[in-house]
Amino acid sequence: MLWLLCGPCGAMDSQALVIRIKIPDGAAVDWTVHSAPQLLFRDVLDVIGQVLPDATTTAFEYEDEDGDRITVRSDEEMKAMLSYYYSTVMEQQVNGQLIEPLQIYPRACKPPGKRNIHGLKVNTRAGAGSGASEALPSNSLKKSSAELKKILANGQMNEQDIRYRDILGHGNGGTVYKAYHVRSGKILAVKVIPLDITLELQKQIMSELEILYKCDSSYIIGFYGAFFVENRISLCTEFMDGGSLDVYRKIPEHVLGRIAVAVVKGLTYLWSLKILHRDVKPSNMLVNTRGQVKLCDFGVSTQLVNSIAKTYVGTNAYMAPERISGEQYGIHSDVWSLGISFMELALGRFPYPQIQKNQGSLMPLQLLQCIVDEV
Ligand code: ATP
Ligand code: MG
Repeated sequence: MLWLLCGPCGAMDSQALVIRIKIPDGAAVDWTVHSAPQLLFRDVLDVIGQVLPDATTTAFEYEDEDGDRITVRSDEEMKAMLSYYYSTVMEQQVNGQLIEPLQIYPRACKPPGKRNIHGLKVNTRAGAGSGASEALPSNSLKKSSAELKKILANGQMNEQDIRYRDILGHGNGGTVYKAYHVRSGKILAVKVIPLDITLELQKQIMSELEILYKCDSSYIIGFYGAFFVENRISLCTEFMDGGSLDVYRKIPEHVLGRIAVAVVKGLTYLWSLKILHRDVKPSNMLVNTRGQVKLCDFGVSTQLVNSIAKTYVGTNAYMAPERISGEQYGIHSDVWSLGISFMELALGRFPYPQIQKNQGSLMPLQLLQCIVDEV
């Protein structure tokens, strides 16, 4: 049985969890939960329903360490929120600080007009998602993130606002730049891919990419927008100052274990949205100096994947045998690539000694025959 304690947060017993439900008019209601491990997403919605009887609440949010809002819509997402919260509690305990309650923000149901072509909700609300913070004073973080989202919601991400700085790397399809976004003052990673395609296909790609605005996971790279200029597409994403895992050589097991948890969480999140990654490999696992690990370059737009494949024909060494043989691709194929990637990161070399792999490059099919044969 759960109950509400209204008013300021009282002393907490060691098992109790105090959830502060923030209401739209700026007030808050504290709810003490004495059985936190058994708490379900449904229970939280029920209590929000008691606090806000006139609103239809379908989800709620909490703030991460950057002040970005993370949406909770399931038991699994709630577990992630609680584990994040308990990590902040531990930090507060270590620093001898007062334990802050867990603040949540009820989110009302959106009208159907806000749904995209995939029938999924598009997150156009300012302030959501995770973002990089380089070059910003901490008090402007929240504002900047909100501004950026607002710009994006209005479809205003464009070349004029972007100042390209360094080249971060070249892949098979294009070049990734570190860039400065003038309007938000934010550092971005911009992937520029030359593509000779029709206007119709460009529109289709843009609409397929819309689902990325909905992606809201701390294990997936933040997506800020895309635009076409002449014959090239630019994809603007969160900049990760630690780069990709392919350059780290042999990674110690205890570190790799933690990386694996983040990567698996990222993949599980994508799969829950019915997105297959299709290009799991160390160069698509990015890290930052905050210790975060995020996945990038997943195949959300079939048209974009096909258009790139037409220009850059080949197969990569992390592909599952069924894919090399041209059979159907499924979640298990992502899992294969994950396994090969982690073997490489653990061993410090590609696990098939027969394959001399230049990182990122595409391989002739004959070379990969050993992968198919060994299965
Ligand atoms: P492929 O084209 O097959 O995906 P790749 O992943 O090596 O191969 P790119 O995706 O073009 O190639 O990326 C090139 C390099 O740019 C990566 O290896 C990585 O080091 C860097 N990079 C990509 N995205 C980011 C980012 N968001 N933040 C920081 N560095 C990035
Ligand atoms: Mg990549």
